[in-house]
Amino acid sequence: MARRKKIYEGKAKILYEGPEPGTIVQYFKDDATAFNAQKKDVIEGKGVLNNRLSEFFMTGLAQIGVPTHFIKRINMREQLVRSCEIIPLEVIVRNYAAGSMSKRLGIDEGTQLPRPIVEYCYKDDALGDPLVTEEHIAAFGWASQQDMDDILSLALRVNDFLSGVMLAVGIKLVDFKIEIGRVYDGDFQRLIVADEISPDSCRLWDMETGQKLDKDVFRRDLGNLTDAYTEVARRLGVLPKNASPITKPTLIN
Ligand code: UDP
Repeated sequence: MARRKKIYEGKAKILYEGPEPGTIVQYFKDDATAFNAQKKDVIEGKGVLNNRLSEFFMTGLAQIGVPTHFIKRINMREQLVRSCEIIPLEVIVRNYAAGSMSKRLGIDEGTQLPRPIVEYCYKDDALGDPLVTEEHIAAFGWASQQDMDDILSLALRVNDFLSGVMLAVGIKLVDFKIEIGRVYDGDFQRLIVADEISPDSCRLWDMETGQKLDKDVFRRDLGNLTDAYTEVARRLGVLPKNASPITKPTLIN
């Protein structure tokens, strides 16, 4: 294959220049990191699963009219996406208390919140992605008031969609993180859902048993991460029954 220009390498993905202007190839690695990359490992098969799962969620969002960067999946580890300017915020939506919110506010993990709560963190690894308010976002010019209105509405639509999809397969959507990109159509700018949506960026708990089916399995050493993600993919019909992402790649291509 012809050499491609690498644009950026992150913790879980590599971005390459796409075949057409305005496109990017997003390559999903098997690397897992947690606690701001202090904990690291290579989890065989994770990239393949996340590529598939992100395709599934982004395609579903597009079908209900939520704009995303996703264009098409290219192969087991790569997808073609629209290039955009990433707004430097992690947009977190929470339905149940967990993780940093439980710690910060002293609320037991698993407590249902009175309504979905949206939080913003400033994307900066060196600072550990600190929580910020809309005041910081406006004052530092990371996003305009109109952007913030659009981001909130996108985040809540993604939450409704993902919660419903998960509920249908016996999984509780505890919380998730999305990133938002800015694209320009002529003189107009609009916002789209970018990056990825996968069990790396969601908390997913089995409704019956409470079993964790997300990256907390890795963060908290709760078992095999690939097994957990495979279970999510199987329930969603993204993987055929009994398919293994590692040993039978042809089944999922
Ligand atoms: N999250 C993420 N990337 C981050 C931080 C958080 O994808 O850099 C996701 C995380 O998987 C969870 C949600 O955002 O689904 C809320 O995470 P939280 O703030 O509780 O952070 P953590 O407990 O992971 O520090």
